[in-house]
Amino acid sequence: MDELEDGNDGHGYGRPNGPDDDDDDPAPPDGQGLDIGHLDGNLRELHDAGGIVISELRIAQKFIAHLQGATLENSGLDEESIYALRHPSTGPLHVDADTLLSLKLYLATSTASEETYKSSRTAIMDRHPEDAVLTYEMVKKVCSASSGITPLRTDMCVNTCLAYTGPFSEDETCHYCAEPRYEPIAQPRQKKKIARQQFYTFPVGYQLQGQCRTVIGSQNLEHRQRETTRIQAEIQENGRLANYNDFYCGKDYLDAVGAGNIKDRDICLMFSIDGAQLYQHKKSDCWIYIWVNLNLPPELR
Ligand SMILES: [Zn+2]
Repeated sequence: MDELEDGNDGHGYGRPNGPDDDDDDPAPPDGQGLDIGHLDGNLRELHDAGGIVISELRIAQKFIAHLQGATLENSGLDEESIYALRHPSTGPLHVDADTLLSLKLYLATSTASEETYKSSRTAIMDRHPEDAVLTYEMVKKVCSASSGITPLRTDMCVNTCLAYTGPFSEDETCHYCAEPRYEPIAQPRQKKKIARQQFYTFPVGYQLQGQCRTVIGSQNLEHRQRETTRIQAEIQENGRLANYNDFYCGKDYLDAVGAGNIKDRDICLMFSIDGAQLYQHKKSDCWIYIWVNLNLPPELR
């Protein structure tokens, strides 16, 4: 996400509190002082030729370094969520009658306020004290666990210039428009900084785990394994395939399976990304991506 306003060419380093405060703009023309430890391939050639002189490229280089060092621990997920990702439940999801009632109530009031859920819960329990309708906090957790919809919140600029990730993660003002990241401190004893704006990411791992929690979902995910076995048998018998109707028939895929790099229980995902300019006369672009689950039959992808 990147939006540059008039009067700011995006090449300055004028952030009041950024990590490059000692690097007053403009950026050093010869690229001196750059950490080039992570550079490789074309970027290193470009640097060696004295080519990295534009701050946008320097930022891109820092993002590459952060991506190379990415771990779950520095992803922003809390410890409980990371543990759940590494230790998925292996049994089918069991929902008792009270939990089902709570989930239905939660979904029915999802467009209303939190208070609506709480008032409805109180009304039900006044009439049926034996019903253990879940508290709002509990039902939110159950909903997240059963659906695999676990939000990861990230701070962003109020003008949508950037997300506070990678080289910007410690910044307190926007690199491009200088808007503050946090709300002003309301009370002298307030310790927690409150971001002015955040966006949500829903990591795909939890959603895949959620799909495995039902018998039908699990069977659908085994489609790739079943088809691969069939295709391998056909090639073994006839030396060729009669029909090429899915990516499973491709040589690169079958070689990867043969080499053991893709195993029976793995899930193959395709990452598809494209950029779009939203306004014809305004400098603005955004990138949209989707994950396609290639384990599923084509009609369910
Ligand atoms: Zn901004």
